[in-house]
Amino acid sequence: MSSAAASAAANVAVIGGGISGAVCASLLAARGVAVTLFDSGRGAGGRMAQRREVMEDGTELRFDHGAPYFTVTNDEVARVVSGWEARGIVAEWKAMFACFDRATGKFTDFEKEGSAKKYVGVPGMNSICKSLCSEDGVVAKFGVTVGKMDWLQDRSSWSLASLDGKDLGHFDYVVATDKNVASPRFSGLTGRPPPLDLSLFPRLSVMVQDIPVHPCFALMVAFSEPLAMVPVNGFSFNNSDYLSRAYCDTSKPGRSCVPPNRQSWVLHSTTEYASKGVPGCRIEHSATNFYESSQMGQCFPSHCCRWR
Ligand SMILES: Cc1cc2nc3c(=O)[nH]c(=O)nc-3n(C[C@H](O)[C@H](O)[C@H](O)COP(=O)(O)OP(=O)(O)OC[C@H]3O[C@@H](n4cnc5c(N)ncnc54)[C@H](O)[C@@H]3O)c2cc1C
Repeated sequence: MSSAAASAAANVAVIGGGISGAVCASLLAARGVAVTLFDSGRGAGGRMAQRREVMEDGTELRFDHGAPYFTVTNDEVARVVSGWEARGIVAEWKAMFACFDRATGKFTDFEKEGSAKKYVGVPGMNSICKSLCSEDGVVAKFGVTVGKMDWLQDRSSWSLASLDGKDLGHFDYVVATDKNVASPRFSGLTGRPPPLDLSLFPRLSVMVQDIPVHPCFALMVAFSEPLAMVPVNGFSFNNSDYLSRAYCDTSKPGRSCVPPNRQSWVLHSTTEYASKGVPGCRIEHSATNFYESSQMGQCFPSHCCRWR
């Protein structure tokens, strides 16, 4: 939307409270546009997610089980991120990274893996979205799935309704940040047609379908002691059919853990493994596969999340 269009717009609906929707809502609100943001989830973050787990002994651990960090490659984004740093919702993760070869059992490529500056949300990856969604001018409504979007020619506005048929209001513009709003995947998840019918826009429909989706299992594990045999805070795997990356969340800035020695890690599967879908198989089974293949010593009960 051009800035002229943005300032002329009375109100805008943003569908999705992940980083795309949160940044969009915040930028529009800063230009004086009335923004209502809807997200199906319980809170902001989307794939920049953090999960709270209470262990059997009462220890509370937090896992960034979506994006573990982000890097910045463009000046405009760098300016935005330095503003977030100044507000304390983002910090640089000055950690050591490497590659682990499962065939040789050795860590390699320390410099290559550690070269890009890595940023994390503080105290969780979802903190950025949470903060942006609570800015002045942004009305954020969580636990609301937009189930229908209709363009009303006579009112020159979009009418939005929730999955359970509740009227969500009329808007001059709608920004949808998830391909699900116009994808058959929505039907797979909800049993209902997608909110936006793109049959009149076949080119756009093809573009939406072409947006890639990379499925991934994220396994959250905790250890009573720091892993002495792991000399880094994050690594990618070579020669593993199951695992692609691993990150020590307790080494990130702003994450406190009591007792302090405890370590929490998030392991990501390969896309290929997650793509198999493990038909008829429970997530716990996949988690066991991960754990057995991780060879990382004794760990606390874990949780496995499947992203698709
Ligand atoms: C395991 C994993 C590892 C990753 N690693 C990295 C990494 O190392 N570096 C990196 O930069 N990126 C990484 N990513 C990708 C990054 O997380 C995503 O690109 C980014 O978070 C996407 O943000 P988004 O706002 O576009 O979408 P999302 O975060 O998916 O947000 C979309 C939101 O829309 C909501 N929504 C959808 N449909 C509706 C509806 N009909 N009504 C209401 N709400 C709706 C959803 O609930 C969701 O919250 C990773 C992602 C995962 C899952």
